[in-house]
Parts: sequence; structure tokens; C-alpha cells
Amino acid sequence: MISTEAPKESVVSARPHKEYDFFKVVQDYLERAARTVELEPYVQTILSQPKNEIIINFPVKMDSGDVRLFKGYRVQHNNLLGPFKGGMRYHPSVTLDDVKALASMMTWKSALMRLPFGGGKGGIKFDPNGVSKAELQRITRRFTHALGENIGPDYDIPAPDMGTNGQTMAWMMDTYANMVGSANKQSVKGVVTGKPVASGGTLGRSKATGQGMVDCLVEWASSNDLKLEGATMIVQGFGNVGSHCAVILSRLGVSTIAVGDHSGYLVNPEGFRAHKLQDHVARNGSIKGYPNAKPITREEFFATKADIFAPCALENQIGDAEAKALDVKVIVEGANGPTNPAGERILLDRGITILPDVLANSGGVTVSYYEWVQNKRSESWTEEEVDHKLERAMVRAFREVSDFSRAHKTDLRIAAYALALQRIEAVYKEREIFP
Ligand code: NAD
Repeated sequence: MISTEAPKESVVSARPHKEYDFFKVVQDYLERAARTVELEPYVQTILSQPKNEIIINFPVKMDSGDVRLFKGYRVQHNNLLGPFKGGMRYHPSVTLDDVKALASMMTWKSALMRLPFGGGKGGIKFDPNGVSKAELQRITRRFTHALGENIGPDYDIPAPDMGTNGQTMAWMMDTYANMVGSANKQSVKGVVTGKPVASGGTLGRSKATGQGMVDCLVEWASSNDLKLEGATMIVQGFGNVGSHCAVILSRLGVSTIAVGDHSGYLVNPEGFRAHKLQDHVARNGSIKGYPNAKPITREEFFATKADIFAPCALENQIGDAEAKALDVKVIVEGANGPTNPAGERILLDRGITILPDVLANSGGVTVSYYEWVQNKRSESWTEEEVDHKLERAMVRAFREVSDFSRAHKTDLRIAAYALALQRIEAVYKEREIFP
């Protein structure tokens, strides 16, 4: 029997998502940033749509013996500066338009961070928590096989995103390596980044997005009178990005006092022990059942007074109501697109700083680049080297974005987009349009 029906999802406590046009939101940012830098109209036209949009429906035999049809996407937005680059998301809410938005954001991130990459993103629409590990492997391998030559170490390089991790990348790389023939097997490790270290990953990659957020926040705090030692934080999403951000900040004396994920929200005014909560999530798949914490509603979570808010789950989480409720000084966007335009207007009016996704979570793609370079050169860098290079890259980008925003009187998000656009435009002007 073939079924396209997804199994019942785990509890999802999110804002209603259906009406939200994430791609349109990102296009509006592009438009505003383009006006700010008087971008050549033809460059904006090119960047307003992705280069390629791939949709694959593929069958997978489930443990029960039934065959289920999955829908997978890979959107390749732009490869002017280098190979398409971006994560693979496994989540029930994945849509083509969302993947288009996320792919374009990767183009801006790579350009902003001066990486020799373009932008891409992909995903499969299903709940990875609702399948067995063996099914997850078969889904990943079948999708990778179906993508075939649409990915490659010098063409399009996936990485982990929501619902995927180092294990997913190891399966993807292994599947790809088995498709290219024995002679090339060893040279294609760089087809994905975010691999486990033993399989060719780099030290420092799993925490890189959280680490980059912290580098950015430290820089902001030092010029904005926020003492991190003794500061408090609330975190939405306690997966790879949110948990590493909380663990690294705990070492700087920041106390996480409320957290939330797909299973619900918890508060502990004394502060969570971030690494213990991270272990709990690794063992149990969510924050649910963590001891010494009180369950709260989503509304109570957003109203919890703290210095910092780190949204590290989905897009469109901070709308009108959340922006009015939030009682924080700064928001550091670990997730892509967590603040919607209505929410953003309110937050900026209230004087709450937003360290925008394109800047704040770009540590992931930056360390992915370090991994790719190590794969090309058959090198292994130390964690200190990786962390140090990342810190320099984040601080430089943060200062460039802040300077631009001051000089052009824009918010930090538009500044980050504008800098990226200027860099891409310079290359279009030199290379011009083929033929
Ligand atoms: P993850 O799968 O490791 O964690 C996702 C977290 O979000 C989990 O805690 C999950 O429970 C939570 N979540 C899911 N649905 C939710 C809901 N409806 N309400 C509240 N919480 C919910 O994913 P990740 O890699 O940590 O990615 C999180 C975000 O960070 C995504 O927006 C992703 O695009 C972005 N990001 C990730 C990376 C990376 O390197 N992994 C890099 C840049 C940006």
C-alpha cells in the first residue's frame, strides 16, 4: 500500500503558520536593502528568484512493510560566488516557498561572511521524530540518491538544519560516495558539511552556529552596556543551535531561565544547567520531563523577563503579540526568520535590538566552509584554530554590519542584506551576463 499520509505529529505548540509567506517576507527585505544601496535593477531581478527548484517525490519502504511517498526539495538560489551551499531540513511544515526563502538567505549569509559559496537549501516534508532510525536512514539515502548529480562537492553542498544532524550527513555522504565510483570515493567527502568528525567533519562544527551567535552577542554586549556575567536568557528551540548557544553562554555566566521546544515550555528562575538539559534532550528527544522545572504556556514563556532572547526553532515565531510581550534587551536570532515583519516593527519601536539571522547564525556556514577546506586539503584543524577563525570572522562581520547600519540609518537586518548585495553586485558587474 502506498501512503502519503504523515504519521501523527508530536505535540507542536507553534504560532499558526499557514498564512505566513516567508519567501515574500525575504523578498521584501531584499527590496528594501536593494533600495538602500541603489542596487542595479538587473541584479535584483536575478536575485529575486532561485536559479533551480528541484522537487522529488520518492517512495520508501517503512518498517511495517508499507510504502510511503515522501516529498523532498532542493532549491539552488545562486552560485555566483561559489557552489550552492545550505542545510537540509526535515520537518512537517517544509514547503517549497519556505525552502526558497531559506535558500536565498544562504546566498546573503555566504556573501556577508565573504565565503566562496552561493546559497541553497533543501528538505523533506515529514516529522523525523515519527519514524525509526532505520527508516530515517532509508529516507535520507533514497533522497540523496534521487538528487543524484544535483549535489556535489563543487556544485551544491548540503549541511544539517532543523531535524537533521551529523548522522544524517554521514548517510548522505556515504550514499553519494557510493554513487560516484570507487576511484572518486575518497575525494567527495566535501559533498556535505556538518559530518561527524570521524567521517571527515571538523572539530567545532556541531556547536558552530551557537558559538557564532555568542561571538556576535559578546561583541554587541561590550558596546551596549550589557554585562553577560549574571545576565539571564530565554531560549526557544533546544536542539543543535539553541542548546549550544545556552551551554556556551552559561560558561560566560549567562543563566537560561526559560526554554521551549516542540514539546512545550519550562521555566526555572534559578537557571537551568544548560549542559544537563542538553544531555536530557539528547536522551529523550525533547525538554519534556526535565526535573526541577515548571511547565508554562507559550504566552508565559514570551512574557518571561530576561536580558536576552535566543529564538532557535522555526521562522515566524515572534509576531505582534510576542513582540509586545517580550521583556528583553536583545534578541539573537539563531533560527532563520524567527521574527516576522509586524513583530520586528514593534520590537524596534520598543528599542529592543535584533541581531539578525543572516549575521547571527552564520557561524554554521562559516565553519562548514572550514570543514570543506579541510576536506579538500586532507587536513584536520584543532578546535582552537576553528573557534579562533570563527570568532574573527563573526566580529568582523558584526562590525561591518553595525557600521553600515549607523552610516545608512538602517536596522541591522537591512544592513546585513545590503552588504551582501553590494558584494554580489560587484561580481555581476565584473563578469556581466552570459552570453
Ligand atoms: P534542531 O532540529 O537541532 O532543533 C530544532 C529545535 O526547535 C528543537 O528543540 C525542536 O523541538 C524545536 N521546535 C521545533 N518545532 C517547534 C515548535 N513548533 N515550537 C517550538 N520549538 C520547536 O535544529 P537546529 O539545527 O538547531 O536549527 C534550529 C534553527 O536554526 C532553524 O531555524 C535552522 O534553520 C537554524 N539554523 C541552523 C543551523 C545549523 O547549523 N544547524 C545554522 C543556521 C541556522
